[in-house]
Amino acid sequence: MLSALRENPALLKLDLYCKGLRLDDSCLVEEDGGRKILRTRAGLGSGLEVILPGNLWTNVPVTEPFAARSPYTLHRERGRYILRWNGDAVTPLALSPRPDWYDRSTSTGKPMTRVGTLQGTYLGVYQAKVCEYWTAKPAKVNCKFCSVGLNLGIDDADDKSLDEVMEVVRAAREESGITYVDFNTGHYEGDTYLDLLEPFVHRIKRELGLLVGLQTPPHRDLRRYDHLREIGVNRVSFCFEIFDPELFAEICPGKHAEYGLDHYLEAIRYCAALGKQGPQDEPWVTNGEIIAGLEPPESSIRAIDWITSVGAVPTVCVFRPLTGTDLQELAPPRTEDMVPVFRRLYEACMERGLPVGVAPNIHVSLVLLPDECRSLSPHRYRLQTLKLRAMARVFRRRFEKRLEEKAYGEVAGPESSPRNVNRNLHSPYSV
Ligand code: SF4
Repeated sequence: MLSALRENPALLKLDLYCKGLRLDDSCLVEEDGGRKILRTRAGLGSGLEVILPGNLWTNVPVTEPFAARSPYTLHRERGRYILRWNGDAVTPLALSPRPDWYDRSTSTGKPMTRVGTLQGTYLGVYQAKVCEYWTAKPAKVNCKFCSVGLNLGIDDADDKSLDEVMEVVRAAREESGITYVDFNTGHYEGDTYLDLLEPFVHRIKRELGLLVGLQTPPHRDLRRYDHLREIGVNRVSFCFEIFDPELFAEICPGKHAEYGLDHYLEAIRYCAALGKQGPQDEPWVTNGEIIAGLEPPESSIRAIDWITSVGAVPTVCVFRPLTGTDLQELAPPRTEDMVPVFRRLYEACMERGLPVGVAPNIHVSLVLLPDECRSLSPHRYRLQTLKLRAMARVFRRRFEKRLEEKAYGEVAGPESSPRNVNRNLHSPYSV
């Protein structure tokens, strides 16, 4: 086991999601420039942000009770961080760097981390008020794994103006080199989430030219996604979480009553077909998001096969029983049950020729991305891998050009100084 963990960073990232780690007293995470452990993770996770070998960014559970029983411990030894497994050294690792803007406030006095936080190398913004499943009467109908209603107002601000968000996006662009901004909302009566988010898309596109994604419930009028495609949105993501209809209804009662699993799937199918239309210089990806560990692995694999069959890319999270949630007493999944799921994630994306791992400088800490799972599969897919590398090169060049145009153009403010443009296309955090 130890040698497999040392040799296979994808397996290590997965095993850490499932087991968490214990911080030895020698660790000085914030003093050493690491990120504070925030509870805001769009309801999915909390944890320590680190970078594993292979440049795999991750968010490791440390605060949940199961992490206190983990065989993994993190130690600070002669100024370096060493991950140990039952006392044996597994690997050195790096703390994900905390940017200076994490310690600043917006001009309106709001701590910037209450507006947006880095999740790996992209900026995540939980926009607008708390998901209304948490405030439903006579009883809340929130998803049972979710912590959003516990977090808001603690680590996250519940009202964020357009200007405040733009201030944080600019800081993250300038100082952290982000290329992508991800907005996440819960459910709001009247399906207002897209109306709320569109002004943010317009301003980010016009002023900075960054990639933008939206993760919201599936709007009842699917033609709204034609418009999102037109205005340059790059990613839409639909979290149906669970493919088994009965478990979906039980664990996600609000989603079940409001939209139903079938509408989630229809939205994914509809949006995946929009790639051929709209501005061809704007990439378009549709994600279907599931949580592995809340249903049998075979059901997660069926979900992966269905999502990829319609041309969408699965996002697969590992269930984390967050403190305070309805499922806090459950155990996290076993790594051995998760390996086939993540192996299938990689293989299904490669078999379908989906464009995974193409966007520049996007490292995601909350999930194992499809292309990160290649070492879990015995298959190499050489031709497809070469094709994806070529796509990534072309996309990077076009994106670089666009950012240069924005930096020199009239709409870009002085913050988009040309001297920063090329530097920011490369990960400033490479290890
Ligand atoms: S839809 Fe579910 S997972 Fe999303 S914020 Fe609401 S309760 Fe949480």
